[in-house]
Amino acid sequence: MHRNWRNPGVALAAAGLLAMSIAAGSISEKAKKLHFSSIVVDTHDDTTQRLLDPKFDLGVRHADGSIDIPRMKEGGLDAIFFSIWMSGKVTGPEAVERATRQINAVRDAVKKHPKEIMLATTAAEVRAAKKQGKIAALMGVEGGHMINSDLGVLRSYASLGVRYMTLTHSVNVEWADSSTDKAAHNGLTDFGKDVVREMNKLGVIVDISHVSDKTFYDALALSKAPMIASHSSCRAICDAPRNMTDQMIKDLAEKGGVIQINYHVGFLGQEFRDAERKDPSINESISREIKKRCPDENDEGCQLIEGDKITREYVAAGKLPRVDYTKIVEHIDHAVKLVGADHVGLGSDFDGANMPYGMEDATMLPKITEALLQKGYSESEVRKILGENTLRVLSEVGRVSKELQGKK
Ligand SMILES: [Zn+2]
Repeated sequence: MHRNWRNPGVALAAAGLLAMSIAAGSISEKAKKLHFSSIVVDTHDDTTQRLLDPKFDLGVRHADGSIDIPRMKEGGLDAIFFSIWMSGKVTGPEAVERATRQINAVRDAVKKHPKEIMLATTAAEVRAAKKQGKIAALMGVEGGHMINSDLGVLRSYASLGVRYMTLTHSVNVEWADSSTDKAAHNGLTDFGKDVVREMNKLGVIVDISHVSDKTFYDALALSKAPMIASHSSCRAICDAPRNMTDQMIKDLAEKGGVIQINYHVGFLGQEFRDAERKDPSINESISREIKKRCPDENDEGCQLIEGDKITREYVAAGKLPRVDYTKIVEHIDHAVKLVGADHVGLGSDFDGANMPYGMEDATMLPKITEALLQKGYSESEVRKILGENTLRVLSEVGRVSKELQGKK
């Protein structure tokens, strides 16, 4: 989830306008074969906000947004982490209640389509889903504020199937600093360290997207299992505090972790970021337009989808620069050059951020495979980036959990 909390009214958003279908023949047979035989995993999707609307059916193709079962199938997306998200300003029991409602919304949506999608909590279950021709649905909690500083709540999320937690969203939590807030805790507090220890024990992946650099290093020093950045890109290419420095990417990889590249245009392209910062009135007017189109201010799903559409209209009108999907490949390649193909994956931020041209929805994913092959990546390297690296982390986190619980 990308949200500009400097301007609380601004909901920059993801989704797709009309999904431009991949022109026939633009994906080579070799790439198609590789892509559709690989296990493709996306570690961050905000489609959950749409699932809260009882009228939204995950099983039918939608003209807007980026994710539904037909488009996941068409794009060969085999496993998806549904993000459990709300603003970090929502705290206390309300945050717990709303997170639980979102977890149940994901579980219910999956139950409605048992032939096509199944809940998964382990790498083995993701592989089993693929064998059965089903999509694997996983969950990640995006922001430690949702545990209300209570390890019991964290345990209950884990028992409901949550397999990663992002330590913070865009504002600090009571026990950890965010990258987009003023440092208040110098990283993780003592309780924050207990949270990381408990996550290791529960087999919940520690996700360091959104956290401050100091929080990242505190968690890295402590975690007994590899960590992920579920949706972050490279700061060397686009200087957003939410992105990872080269050194952080190396240090994450050193301990077996994976950076999952985020497709949000403001994290991919420096020129987009510069344009937004140069003229804050652009975001303000996008925000006003979102309010007009989504009169229910609690309807996050509407705000996210419309925000992306409006941003795209601004790009079309030349008010914001256009960022192409090839920029995703540039970030992947940058990270691979730093740490090799074992530590890079995909964390789109579909339905929660502004997607680049040519990656409007899940049907476009084979383009990434095609582009990597064209860059000279081997088939095994591509498979790792598409999903095997994430599955390795999931297995490893599960193994560490068993070990810490004294089970074999
Ligand atoms: Zn996010």
